[in-house]
Amino acid sequence: MKITFAGTASGETSRERFHSSILLESENHKLLIDAGDGVSKALLKLKIDFNSIDSIIITHFHADHVMGLPSLITQMKLLKRTRPLKIYVHESLITQTKALLNFAYLFTEILDFDLSITGIKTNEEIDVDGKFNFTAKQNSHIWNKHKLKGFDDVSFVSISLLIKTESEQVIYTSDIGDSADLILFNKSTDYFITETTHVSFDEIKTAVEKLNPVKVILTHFSCDDRKKIEEQISSLDRNIRKIFILADDGMTI
Ligand SMILES: [Zn+2]
Repeated sequence: MKITFAGTASGETSRERFHSSILLESENHKLLIDAGDGVSKALLKLKIDFNSIDSIIITHFHADHVMGLPSLITQMKLLKRTRPLKIYVHESLITQTKALLNFAYLFTEILDFDLSITGIKTNEEIDVDGKFNFTAKQNSHIWNKHKLKGFDDVSFVSISLLIKTESEQVIYTSDIGDSADLILFNKSTDYFITETTHVSFDEIKTAVEKLNPVKVILTHFSCDDRKKIEEQISSLDRNIRKIFILADDGMTI
């Protein structure tokens, strides 16, 4: 599996980094996880053909994870896409996803390609195409928004993912709420990709000691935070230090 980090910034817009987006590639399938604001330019910079993307998972509806979606679909349309595209969102966000596309005049009924929006149920393994499958778990990232009055019909679900190919496994926390979310899947993995904005480095280190992944990739940080995290990694014991990788835009594993 090839993993390309198209965007690694936090929610803060940065001159140096694009917002969250990761491309997972097997031999025959390209799966994009999240399409933050600016994702089309991020992919273009990396010379990734928009129309080579087969499916997109959106982990939650913060702008740095979803607001690039309408423009990305627009680019596919302008490039005369004919291949089908699948978008996966939590089942409670299907209506909002459709509305987001409709507001950008991307009515699925009149696109020249088949665009399907599939609802994710948490804790259920979803087969993407035989090459990838994934399981989503709800994390606590936007739980506190449930307290908002008058928004009962709006979903505040945010998911973390376990993605599997025949030979490899990836855990991607996406944005989370606290340290308990780091161990939602509570298992070892080849790649443990975690955000760094909403949990401390020490909490990540504790989770890594428990999960024992082959590699830990840290993402979702500002340029100022990068320096701090780099220092924290270098203060670790050599054995654990060597499994940590700091993600930058364009990095491929
Ligand atoms: Zn974010």
